[in-house]
Amino acid sequence: MRPVTDGSRVRLTFLGAAREVTGSCYLVETPDARFIVDCGMFQGGGNPGRRNRARFGFDPRGLDFVLLTHAHIDHSGLLPRLAAQGYTGPVYATPATCDLLQVMLVDAAHVQEKEAEWKSKSRARHRTAAEPLYTGAHALRALKLLQPVEYGATLEPHPAVRCVFRDAGHILGSAIIEAEVAAKGRKRKIVFSGDIGQSLRPLVRDPARVTEADALLVESTYGNRLHKSLDDTVRELEEAIGETISRKGGNVVVPAFAVGRTQELLYLLAELHRAGRLPRMDIYVDSPMALKATEVTLRHTRILDPEAAELLRWLRGNRAGPRIRFVQDLEESIGLHRVKSGALIISASGMCDAGRIKHHLRHNLARPECAILITGFQAANTLGRRIVDGAKEVRIFGIPVAVRARVYTIGGLSAHADQRGLLAWLGHFKRAPAHTFVVHGESGTADIFAAAVRKELKWRGVTVPQPRDRVEI
Ligand code: ZN
Repeated sequence: MRPVTDGSRVRLTFLGAAREVTGSCYLVETPDARFIVDCGMFQGGGNPGRRNRARFGFDPRGLDFVLLTHAHIDHSGLLPRLAAQGYTGPVYATPATCDLLQVMLVDAAHVQEKEAEWKSKSRARHRTAAEPLYTGAHALRALKLLQPVEYGATLEPHPAVRCVFRDAGHILGSAIIEAEVAAKGRKRKIVFSGDIGQSLRPLVRDPARVTEADALLVESTYGNRLHKSLDDTVRELEEAIGETISRKGGNVVVPAFAVGRTQELLYLLAELHRAGRLPRMDIYVDSPMALKATEVTLRHTRILDPEAAELLRWLRGNRAGPRIRFVQDLEESIGLHRVKSGALIISASGMCDAGRIKHHLRHNLARPECAILITGFQAANTLGRRIVDGAKEVRIFGIPVAVRARVYTIGGLSAHADQRGLLAWLGHFKRAPAHTFVVHGESGTADIFAAAVRKELKWRGVTVPQPRDRVEI
């Protein structure tokens, strides 16, 4: 590795989430210290398999420590690979992130092992076994490295580095990281936004304000658009459920990510129920991982939005709450296929390309009295995307299924701030950071957002780094 040229400078390398939204990983180096912020998996287009298997842009054994903004796999998913390649130092994250990772990294390893098994079978004729990206044992090795850090506490992971984690309001445990890095007595404050949530969203708190930085890395996932308001979103949800359950007598099927989106939906449904705005119905959460993630959420009510904590107390002490059932075993899940009306079924995966949701779609999609509620982003080439795009027929497990159920797209539930939200968050800075790097956005989106920051906030020094770009500050 090339030494840092000027001893008093801090070098930043953008190893992932540069002009794209996955693979978050930033390397920070001084003559004394070397660490990364996030260690995310590449997902979606551009041959992610090859990129996830490529060598890290650093020697894992040469790192002093790792900081993690949150548990999403595109920020944490390569930690087991880092551990497999010899990293044995600490990985600092908030306590809720540490708990979520126990669920998510084990699941990610399971997915990798299954995929390798399936590939090996299809290659059996050539007698070459496919190696998984990592195994459950590697995931456990990574989990042992986790060190919880509370929001607001000062962490000194190295004599030359001090950091504070602040609530990013994105998912449970998500953090903005402020890092003060000293090189030859010269201190630089670098702020890593992580993923920034929307203000006034249910469950998690609003993103914490940050007021100064010498260098800022800011996400831009939705830097080119505006979300619907939460009130409009809740009204859409109420109308879709009322129309389907009360008027047509069908079921509502909701594909949703097991971590985050499912808990948010449960919160909104409980709130609608309390306000008397929901018909009588049974709510089923059919995903073992969603149950685990909900349990983790309930263990951390202390860091939830105060309104959410209040609602949970009401739910616990009130028999008139909505009927929510977490489905664990496969048999009960299959039993749901016989339910013809009055059920709202939340199941994973969120983009309908795997998991139990495919079975629920197979049994409800062709029935005009039913509804499918799309609540999250559907990537190209997924079953969810084909449904959103208005396909008249889709194939599920190779069988053609007509799309006769009504498809509702519920906007506004995004876990990311939109352009207005991001600009408002930046607006809390007392003065422009000397360097602002727009990251974690598709290329065009990041450019549009960078232009908006220059225009609206009159900031200079705003750039959109290329992958593997290296800067000294
Ligand atoms: Zn995220």
